[in-house]
Amino acid sequence: MYRTNTCGELNETNIGQTVTLAGWVQTVRDKGFVLWIDLRDRYGITQLVFDEQRTDKTLLEQARKLGREFVIQAVGQVIERASKNPNIPTGNIEILVKKLQILNASLTPPFTIEDETDGGEELRMKYRYLDIRRNPVKDKLVFRSKVAHLVRNYLSQEGFIEIETPVLIKSTPEGARDFVVPSRMNQGQFYALPQSPQTFKQLLMIAGMDKYFQIVKCFRDEDLRADRQPEFTQIDCEMSFVEQEDVLNTFEGMAKHLFKELRGLDFDKFPRITYAEAMRRYGNDKPDIRFGMEFVELNDELKNGSFKVFDEAELVVGINAEGCASYTRKQIDELTDWVKRPQIGSGGLVYVRYNQDGTIKSSVDKFYSEDQLKKVLEKTQAKAGDLILILSGKADKVRSQLSALRMELAERLNLRNPDVFAPLWVVDFPLLEWSEEENRYVAMHHPFTSPKPEDISLMETEPGKVRANAYDMVLNGNEVGGGSVRIFDRDLQAKMFDLLGFSSEDAEAQFGFLMNAFKYGAPPHAGIALGFDRLTAILGGQEVIRDFIAFPKNNSGRDVMIDAPSSIHQQQLDELGIGLKE
Ligand code: ASP
Repeated sequence: MYRTNTCGELNETNIGQTVTLAGWVQTVRDKGFVLWIDLRDRYGITQLVFDEQRTDKTLLEQARKLGREFVIQAVGQVIERASKNPNIPTGNIEILVKKLQILNASLTPPFTIEDETDGGEELRMKYRYLDIRRNPVKDKLVFRSKVAHLVRNYLSQEGFIEIETPVLIKSTPEGARDFVVPSRMNQGQFYALPQSPQTFKQLLMIAGMDKYFQIVKCFRDEDLRADRQPEFTQIDCEMSFVEQEDVLNTFEGMAKHLFKELRGLDFDKFPRITYAEAMRRYGNDKPDIRFGMEFVELNDELKNGSFKVFDEAELVVGINAEGCASYTRKQIDELTDWVKRPQIGSGGLVYVRYNQDGTIKSSVDKFYSEDQLKKVLEKTQAKAGDLILILSGKADKVRSQLSALRMELAERLNLRNPDVFAPLWVVDFPLLEWSEEENRYVAMHHPFTSPKPEDISLMETEPGKVRANAYDMVLNGNEVGGGSVRIFDRDLQAKMFDLLGFSSEDAEAQFGFLMNAFKYGAPPHAGIALGFDRLTAILGGQEVIRDFIAFPKNNSGRDVMIDAPSSIHQQQLDELGIGLKE
């Protein structure tokens, strides 16, 4: 037997027992007459003690040879510790070692395996297996496992069946690029890795499985933005004979279950707002509603022939940065530079400062009377001490610019508390969005999403106005899930492909299997997928998903530990029939 106990469980109730522990040497503290070792495993740390009086000489000599991260087995007696450590569960005891065995030696690790490490990101990723020995990373993986367990339990109890779908498939239309895998047995042909199991879960509904879920890897070859992974995990679900309301209730229930079990929090019904409203009030379809700073449209107040920039703008819109009237000129200049950066692209920032003493100062004093500015303060419900920040321009653009400013201010004002949770549903997404790049409409969610029945007649006349039965679950400014009611009528699906610019041959080649299945009694169905990595990270009080993934890729999509992607041998290329030709 390698061990009788773990390094996290012994306490004063075990005093007197002889135990065997196994683990890694975290630290050796040698005072000459006495030597302590912190022995670590997944469960915690237990102190081993050797001293001149009670330990025989050869054993003490043996202990002196141990280095950091050696794997050892120690047999000894649990004794009361002289100087106790109240910070760890085993802090009242130590093990007086009688026998020691080195199970494996270790090189000195390239960074310290402590909660606070001296290792930089790149180095920790290269030696991820050492990084995972550290509590902050290990605890996140344990937490992830717990979330997965709760999800499985909840959905199983709700009657969902976990079904695996294949990974070697063909293109899925989630709007990203596919990762492809060449087929050796079918030369010149390729599988695509699933961007999601979308088509398969719909086929499972046609197959009568009724309630499906899967915690599943998905792959999207997108240009990597910070904190995006080319392979990520979804909680993927589909249900038959349901309407949007049923899906929202089921998954709101699941989210509430997670909040309760993981954070001890209870929630009322999640607020719901439409996409149009989200854009109007927050300039964003995934609003962070932990704080206010809602948009206030100021066209009536400020587009009146006084200031050319505003007069020419489609939309003049502001936010109230409460308590920020004390911002210095320098701070406001800095915010102005911030919104003018190319990433944001605003022409400038106008402020109206409502000073504590009741006076008003703005950057447009020469264009507006005090009465006009007072109207702005009224409309934005400003109090003395508040600062109104205003942007103007084309409506869509200015909304997204102000949304970025709102989030930046919230960050600076510490309004994005990771231990506060504000979930909501955003519903009634547009069915289509115009792609300038492709000069055609593309599906906002995916091509299987059903238009709202009352908007179907607009599909031919004003496709951009058609709303979909599509919904997102939003948490703290992140889209944590999205789904839709599906089209289950073959003709409507054909019409949708047509709107998206698929020729009937293309539609047939890509999705013929699904269209064909629709001929055999497809039930009404709807579903959702939740981003498991992100959801877990947020529930864990963090926004960075990387540490909740055992072996993540870096920002260039590389696994620096195994060095992937990498080139392959010519022979392998030849076998696949994709030899690099001149
Ligand atoms: N397949 C969709 C996605 O991955 C989710 C869904 O519609 O169920 O975003």
